[in-house]
Amino acid sequence: MLDMKLSKALKTTKKHLSLLASLNINTVRDLLEYYPRAYTDERESVRIADMKLDVNNVVCGRLTAFHSRKSRNGMYVSEGIISDDSGSVPVIWFNQRFLAGMLRVGKKYYFSGKLKYDKGRSVFASPKVEEVSANMLHTGRIVPVYHETEGLTSKWLRDKIFSLIKFANEIPDELPEWIKQELKLFDLGFAVKNIHFPESPDALKSAQRRLAFDELFYLQVSALKRRASWRQASSAFQVKLDNDAMKRFAGELGFVLTQAQKRSLVEVLNDMSRGVPMLRLVQGDVGSGKTVVAALAALNVVSSGAQVAFMVPTEVLAKQHYSKLKPLFDRLGIRSEILIGGVGGKSKIHDRIKVGDIDLVIGTHALIQDKVSFKKLGLAIVDEQHRFGVDQRRQLASHGTPHLLSMTATPIPRTLAMIVYGDLDISLIDELPPGRKKIVTRIITDDKRQSAYDWIRSQVSNNGDQVYVICPLIDESDALTEVKSVIKEFEYLREGPFKGLSIGLLHGRMSGAEKDEVMMAFKNHDIDVLVSTSVIEVGIDVANATIMMIEGSERFGLSQLHQFRGRVGRGEKQSYCFLFPSKYTPEGMTRLSALQKTDNGFELAEADLKLRGPGEIYGTRQSGIPDLKVASFADSELIKLSRDMAIKFVGGHNDGILKI
Ligand code: ADP
Ligand code: MG
Repeated sequence: MLDMKLSKALKTTKKHLSLLASLNINTVRDLLEYYPRAYTDERESVRIADMKLDVNNVVCGRLTAFHSRKSRNGMYVSEGIISDDSGSVPVIWFNQRFLAGMLRVGKKYYFSGKLKYDKGRSVFASPKVEEVSANMLHTGRIVPVYHETEGLTSKWLRDKIFSLIKFANEIPDELPEWIKQELKLFDLGFAVKNIHFPESPDALKSAQRRLAFDELFYLQVSALKRRASWRQASSAFQVKLDNDAMKRFAGELGFVLTQAQKRSLVEVLNDMSRGVPMLRLVQGDVGSGKTVVAALAALNVVSSGAQVAFMVPTEVLAKQHYSKLKPLFDRLGIRSEILIGGVGGKSKIHDRIKVGDIDLVIGTHALIQDKVSFKKLGLAIVDEQHRFGVDQRRQLASHGTPHLLSMTATPIPRTLAMIVYGDLDISLIDELPPGRKKIVTRIITDDKRQSAYDWIRSQVSNNGDQVYVICPLIDESDALTEVKSVIKEFEYLREGPFKGLSIGLLHGRMSGAEKDEVMMAFKNHDIDVLVSTSVIEVGIDVANATIMMIEGSERFGLSQLHQFRGRVGRGEKQSYCFLFPSKYTPEGMTRLSALQKTDNGFELAEADLKLRGPGEIYGTRQSGIPDLKVASFADSELIKLSRDMAIKFVGGHNDGILKI
């Protein structure tokens, strides 16, 4: 029955069926799994004498008068009187013709709606009506409210789902009995019934808990299984420590590692010494120094006789890493290369990788695609890993099963990381190198805009500072006309406030090569002011850029703003971040002022998670963060429980992955 098409199971119109289909609801099961988005508690009815103005009242009363008429402006008006022991109240509906066929004078109904004061009297305004019976659906109970789309009302959905709810018991309950018992969880069928038509508030809570648990549990089980299969695929290359090389490398750096960097490095080295493929994510705020940790890990792999692939999301970033790391590696006799589109002699590099003449290669993800084959790949490093899709892991596996070291500056609260990176061990670099100057962050209101421009201009002319200007959108085809398009902004700044300065433009519709060219020009200081969409976000390092201006800043998540801000403050000079809101709402301003108060990416991520939810922050699809129907990423208790249970459940495969 569950798989039966709704066209068979429901008595309804083609139009309704196609509306459902557009929501991917085609079978009985699909409809049963279309859960309410909210509930209204309409169990308590009040006496008519006790009704209150302007709030929802549920009344159980008799319809003692009813008639319909056309009003002068063409509306279809139905009016009546409702009475109970305590008194009576006039009622009015507009354009609800079906009521005339449904309502009978003298019968008892539940009415639910607002009491309005109009023209000298109180009127019950367009209440929902339902006949009194044992199976109340729309009033007189905890009423489910569904996401409505044009033509699909909550009322319609309630009726149809109710007609199928008995089949909820047929949904196979695959959760092991011992978990249900240990956590006192509802049976699945009972939970589905109660999520739609709760018997009581407690039953609703338990139903939500059961369904939320399932969502989290199965996500984690599949992550743990993925992990297990990666780690069992082959025995990995066992890395031996080369303390001597590490000392020499560290000696050349000109700084000492922070405690957090050391800790992460030790965790990585321990993993790689075990002969089981490492799966580790190093999470650290922008500028926390993830690159050196990766480089130190890499040199041990090379010393032990294997190769390293260092993947980055853009060519600019590849060049940046390469120019920094190559001299350091050269001194240790490590042969490094860069492999990107613009570099000639690619096939020669391919050959050298194949025969093992190259120890470490830096490049975009093309590194692990097509023609590149390694002699012996021991470690794959994935920088800014949130920019890569999940497929990349599969492609990596075709090179044997190297150790995997991912790095990300997207700060994700710990509980969220459990779900998103459920198959990875996590190291945290929760400390910035000493001596960093705090970036001065200011919200600039319209009245201060001109003086901000003047000040920035003088910084550029007098100190040779460089500026980023971030605009949220590329053109105005999007209805958000108040947001300045990047091209318009570019032209405006060039002709107006920053006239005479060298201004560059960067946006997502430019080709990779064009973008790289502009970035390089900025890096070489051929450009003073770079006007850009959010494509600038990823790890670029221009030490001389000290000013960040963000237009329409209230439109971005705090985490993203923090990432933008991380583009400045990379050198010795004092850096500034100016937030220009395009709209002033109290909530928006509160959010932005959080950026003034803290420069801790994790705190900001937590704040964002509370204020806006995960989808908004990380962009659901792109970041691989799943959509949750019932569960909440903020429910850390249930996330922990589901994690523990998933680890127990996967049992034999458990290899000491961290618990929380
Ligand atoms: P991210 O974590 O954002 O990738 P990077 O690895 O690019 O950060 O490091 C940012 C800057 O900080 C680089 O210029 C790097 O050389 C420097 N750096 C890294 N570690 C330290 C340290 N322990 N002390 C001082 N500077 C450091
Ligand atoms: Mg980086």
